[in-house]
Amino acid sequence: MKDWENNLDLLIRARTPLILIRSSEELRVEELLEQSAKRMKPRRLVVWDYINGIKGAINSPGLGASQPMAVLQWLQKINSDNPTTLLLKDFHRFCEDPGIARMLKNLSIDLRKTSHNIVLCSGNWLPPNDFDEALTILDLPLPNQFQLKELLTNISNASGNNLDQEVLEELTRACSGLSESRVRLVAARALAQRGTMGKDDLKEVLEEKRQNIARSEVLEYCETKATQSDIGGLDALKNWLSQRYMAFSEEAKRFGLPLPRGVLLLGPQGTGKSLTAKAIADSWSMPLLRLDVGRLFAGLVGASEARTRETIQRAEAMAPCILWIDEIDKAFGGDSRSDGGTSQRVLANILTWMAEKTSAVFVVATANAIDRLPPELLRKGRFDEIFMLDLPSREERFSILALHINQRRPHTEIPLETIVDRTGGFSGAELEQIVIEGMHLAFAEKRELQENDLILASSQLVPLSRTAKEQLESLKEWSSTGRARPASINLGRNFQRN
Ligand code: ATP
Repeated sequence: MKDWENNLDLLIRARTPLILIRSSEELRVEELLEQSAKRMKPRRLVVWDYINGIKGAINSPGLGASQPMAVLQWLQKINSDNPTTLLLKDFHRFCEDPGIARMLKNLSIDLRKTSHNIVLCSGNWLPPNDFDEALTILDLPLPNQFQLKELLTNISNASGNNLDQEVLEELTRACSGLSESRVRLVAARALAQRGTMGKDDLKEVLEEKRQNIARSEVLEYCETKATQSDIGGLDALKNWLSQRYMAFSEEAKRFGLPLPRGVLLLGPQGTGKSLTAKAIADSWSMPLLRLDVGRLFAGLVGASEARTRETIQRAEAMAPCILWIDEIDKAFGGDSRSDGGTSQRVLANILTWMAEKTSAVFVVATANAIDRLPPELLRKGRFDEIFMLDLPSREERFSILALHINQRRPHTEIPLETIVDRTGGFSGAELEQIVIEGMHLAFAEKRELQENDLILASSQLVPLSRTAKEQLESLKEWSSTGRARPASINLGRNFQRN
């Protein structure tokens, strides 16, 4: 945070006329500006809002209430001996007005000769392009571990309680990624309910984070019951995932290992990519957040980048967590000319974040086709690994069929050799479909599921591998060059299946 404060002081000292602090934490911004003014005495902080007008200037309290133009004119007339940082709350709402916009641009030149600065604060405002020259943008990160610890200690001390060191550590970790006001809210609730803060509050913190996700239009909190044992085959992928999980530990950190970044799962429809994403969340006991890329692009042109930034912040607030980007090929595989380059910019933002991130957000991206995937996504270092989930081998078909029969008719014994032989080229989803269809046949005749039901059901299903042969071939060809790792242990060198 020291760096951020230095940066702010530097901007103020360098006579930066118009600063936009990108944050939804208005109170925190005000406090930080107050501290900055104190560091740069005799500077003062003056705050304006539409209802109360000016606060913090001795001779002008209340001035400019309901009059945004009046407050700008007030600053224009102030003598330079009285260096002023003017925080204008909600002012982005008035920037649509041509008069206000013009005045701000004029001030962005005039104020350079004075020692006054105007600060705007908003978490999701996208300034119009013609403000590019006038505005300097400063992103305010969420409170870090040290600040959170200090905040929690202060709140607890103020309530007359001393937090146990271990509880403090745990609460600090859990609150990571929440805004200061949200932490205050959780603490206030705990104090009102129990008069103290403690381990019981961890659940509340998680709930607060869940609600944070619910407020997002782009992220969905997925409740999932899928576990690793629901996946038939894909043993190489499962082994790799177990290994990566260990890299989240403190011990791994001490060993010098970086935090795992993510994995790209490539493969035809129905081969268990989504199932794997869900199972990872379960076996790693991490929340699963599904990113709806389509929604990132919806709405106003230019708003997508702001939404991407906000989405990333929300995901980081949930860390450690799994961020699942489904069908990434469809999301970013379109023609960039048709959307004014928006998808390219959003992808670039996501890739930069993935390369630089230090938070425990593990990205699981899934894709069906290789030809539509932007090449920059496949470059080394983006994902920890790229896995190819091919159609299941003979052994895998056996375990997938057994698994689905066992899930639905646990006490039924059926010989599976014949059906396994007859389902070469079927996906996991199609094998599941055969079990369900077979059960319908048996149920209609009021008897137990039999081998013949499965054989009949399989003969009625045309697998996708037959209809989408070309797509499959190009996927296999690409993977066989060694750019993706086979998800199944017995895949062999040339993906020969039967
Ligand atoms: P898409 O590319 O169409 O999104 P996908 O690869 O994500 O497909 P899933 O949605 O994971 O496929 O699979 C659909 C269903 O098929 C799963 O919910 C599961 O019931 C079954 N299935 C697929 N693969 C397997 C597998 N390896 N083991 C057990 N079940 C599987």
